Amino acid sequence: MSATIIDGTAVAAAVSDEVRRDVEAMVTAGLQPPGLDVVLCNDDAGSASYVRSKERTAGRLGMRGTVHTPPLTSSTDELVALVERLNADDSVDGILVQLPLPDHVDAGAVLNVIDPRKDADGLHPYNFGLLAQGRPQVQPCTPHGCMELMRRYDVPIRGARAVVIGRSNLVGRPIALLLTNADATVTVCHSRTVDLPAVCREADILVAAIGRPGFVTAEYVKPGACVIDVGINRVDGRITGDVDRASVEPVAGWLTPVPKGVGPMTVAMLMRNAVDLARARRAPTLTPNLA
Ligand code: NAP
Repeated sequence: MSATIIDGTAVAAAVSDEVRRDVEAMVTAGLQPPGLDVVLCNDDAGSASYVRSKERTAGRLGMRGTVHTPPLTSSTDELVALVERLNADDSVDGILVQLPLPDHVDAGAVLNVIDPRKDADGLHPYNFGLLAQGRPQVQPCTPHGCMELMRRYDVPIRGARAVVIGRSNLVGRPIALLLTNADATVTVCHSRTVDLPAVCREADILVAAIGRPGFVTAEYVKPGACVIDVGINRVDGRITGDVDRASVEPVAGWLTPVPKGVGPMTVAMLMRNAVDLARARRAPTLTPNLA
């Protein structure tokens, strides 16, 4: 048996198409198109390229994408003031503060001031709390993207044993909550987990969010399991995941490749979030286009 390779590019295109139709419906109803505002305050080439791709995607879907580039010398207070201005601007539907922020800035203070109704990333403590309570409103983009990939490939989730390697606030913890909310039985592993391969071999769904290239090998995988590789690692100028594809593909039932797996979904779900936030605030009676 060889795993079904989950095509993240194709699913992201389908999600983007639904989002574009939602944008059109808002404009047809006489409303301003949804607006996503990104704050970029770092000189990291990777961040700049992510932000450009978000801006381009927003434009392609008929949304207004604006990038704010305050100087790298900006203080915490100045960035907080910028976010507060975006909170107060009715044309702004979604706000995303690209990380990292400069070392001298209190990133938590800047992120926590985002109005939860404009929290495009879904990582504000208020929205995280709702997710933890099992009544999510905005869902974090990458974890939501992973769930959407499984849903569209009919991976059974209810009652499944799921193991998540990684407990970051960005990926590991929220995906564990999303899986729990979808009725999986979830174990969260980390660098102190004892006998990690044995724990992982119990998983019907194995999520790798570690940041170590090729870490998960066949030894970690139950035959037929769905393996979601969230990792993005740069090795010799190439992007590679946390899963050793050559060893895992013959064992797993489904596998997300890197690249073209989870990565494209993160941007698509960000657009989905921005449009959902716009609708919730400005057009609660319009029905979303969802598969
Ligand atoms: P992170 O904050 O560094 O967290 C890594 C997690 O992996 C930690 O919980 C850590 O455990 C655990 N870990 C590290 N080494 C381990 C080991 N030997 N055994 C078991 N667990 C181990 O990273 P992150 O932000 O969650 O990101 C994880 C990966 O996903 C990265 O490659 C990142 O680039 C990628 N990513 C991709 C997307 C996307 O769009 N596809 C989005 C976000 C992130 P401790 O807590 O014990 O330290």
